[in-house]
Amino acid sequence: MRRLDTRTTVGLSILLFFLGVALVGPLLVGSPTASVAQPLLPPSAEHWFGTNGQGQDVLAQTVVGTRSTLLIGLLVGTVVTLIGAVVGATSAFIGGAVDAIISLLINLFLVMPGLPLVVVIAAYLPPGPATMAAVLILTGWPWHARVVRAQVLTLRQRDYILAARGIGEPWWRIVAVELLPNLASLLGSALLGASLYAIGAQVGLEFLGLGDLASTTWGTNLYWANNDSALLVGAWWTFLPTGLCIALVGVGLSMLGFALDVRSNPRLGVAADAAPRPTAVGARTAVPDVANPAFHIQQLNVAYGEQRVVQGFEVALGPGKTLGLVGESGSGKSTAMLGALRLLPAPATVGGGAVRLGSLELLGSPTSTLRAVWGQKVALVPQGALSALNPVLRIGEHFEETFAAHGVQPPEGVEARGKVLLQKLGLSPAVWEAWPHTLSGGMRQRVLVALGLALDAPVLVMDEPTTALDVVVERQLLRELLHLQKELSFGVVFITHDLALLLEFADEVGVMYAGRLVERAPAAVLAGGGARHPYTLGLLAALPPEPGEDRKAKSIPGSPAQASAPPPGCAFHPRCSLANERCRRERPALVGERHAVACHLVQP
Ligand code: SF4
Repeated sequence: MRRLDTRTTVGLSILLFFLGVALVGPLLVGSPTASVAQPLLPPSAEHWFGTNGQGQDVLAQTVVGTRSTLLIGLLVGTVVTLIGAVVGATSAFIGGAVDAIISLLINLFLVMPGLPLVVVIAAYLPPGPATMAAVLILTGWPWHARVVRAQVLTLRQRDYILAARGIGEPWWRIVAVELLPNLASLLGSALLGASLYAIGAQVGLEFLGLGDLASTTWGTNLYWANNDSALLVGAWWTFLPTGLCIALVGVGLSMLGFALDVRSNPRLGVAADAAPRPTAVGARTAVPDVANPAFHIQQLNVAYGEQRVVQGFEVALGPGKTLGLVGESGSGKSTAMLGALRLLPAPATVGGGAVRLGSLELLGSPTSTLRAVWGQKVALVPQGALSALNPVLRIGEHFEETFAAHGVQPPEGVEARGKVLLQKLGLSPAVWEAWPHTLSGGMRQRVLVALGLALDAPVLVMDEPTTALDVVVERQLLRELLHLQKELSFGVVFITHDLALLLEFADEVGVMYAGRLVERAPAAVLAGGGARHPYTLGLLAALPPEPGEDRKAKSIPGSPAQASAPPPGCAFHPRCSLANERCRRERPALVGERHAVACHLVQP
């Protein structure tokens, strides 16, 4: 905090000093172009900074030069940053052909060597401040546009932005509340950096004689000093004041840039007022009355164009129960659940059977109904805890946003409700005031679970929530979750690649392979040696042996089949030691009720 204040104070002091000199200074010194004494007089009581080769007062030249140099520098910095922000953000937001054309234009400018281009353009245009500003703006905006575009492309994929879109926040609110605060650091630094670049480039061009030599700027001061061979004759006072001014402004802008970065980005320091307060949004669609919160998915298909990635997915979840979905990466477990919740973006299409949440059918529901259901009747805890939390909002503000977005006010108050949930998940109420980056991975994941439960959703879908956690923290979090589940009776769909975890914590387990369920059974049955499908048996054999168990972990041979292009017949047959001719041509159906298996060799 102290370092931040020091930098801000020093940077601001320097900048304000020079702004003061630029505004008032020219009124206090004489004409910078009048010959007032002998040429090249050293500093004296009469002429503090001495005189130059034309007998002009160097102090007057330095002070008057400050005004024109800073004016062009700050003007160019502001315009370049604005153009870059608008062009870059528009390109990233609209995407498609517009993005391709703008990106081509940006790339064209960027591949041209910057300084030679500036020199050539400046040499062919009539000299003057307007020309100088135009040249620097023309050549300065593409870099900023590219940086902003890249940043917006990244931010728009963050879970908190997707969640804001999902609950129907208007685009302007997403830009103002979610995107801009996260871009503030970038834009502020870009503005200061662009101003510094513009000052340097302007001084450089004028030093080369490409500016208006009749005007008085820091660049022309150096040009005339060089013209008078000041270095050769030892007239250091003709260039040192201007040189020091340039260096000081550079230091001031750089320090301010860093201070702004720290203030806008809580990862670099703590700033009390950096984050915007969320505001309540308009009235929402009423939450459908879901009398029986049981969650039932029947014969669900998910496709990307012609390619089906999930087929015939069918599971059920009772109140207070835990359903685990397991399978290797790409087996379709997350896609199936996100598809069932209608959370997959285009071009994914969801069809087939039905997704019932109590009496509500999700597949046929309009988006307005889904927005009311998401969060209040079924909540998603995503995999990446850090990308799911907005880095410029404190944890408490995430709760406030959640309640505000749904137009809900808990009877005990948002803060009290949030703190109770945080405590139930083993976190201190002080976490309410914390920034996301100050928490460990386990703490952030607990916060996400607490946010998922904030609106009393009867179904919680957890998409690989413990992948980034170590085993001890993972087990601890799941125990706390199960404890809460007993108390609040919500159902959990737990998506993971860790079968051992499901055998310990789930009531029922669905095993997925290449976009299909191949076995679904009570966890106790699988744990007790009742697994029937060769793939499930392979997963169990791949688990590390328990202490005292006399066996070695054995991996399943071969590579997982692609859900979008599975082999004919049973998708597992290239890896199955029991495969026969029928397996290679005929796909087995999932057969059975409480314990269902999709294998030709397993009798119902
Ligand atoms: Fe193996 Fe055939 Fe059963 Fe598929 S259907 S798991 S290939 S035995």
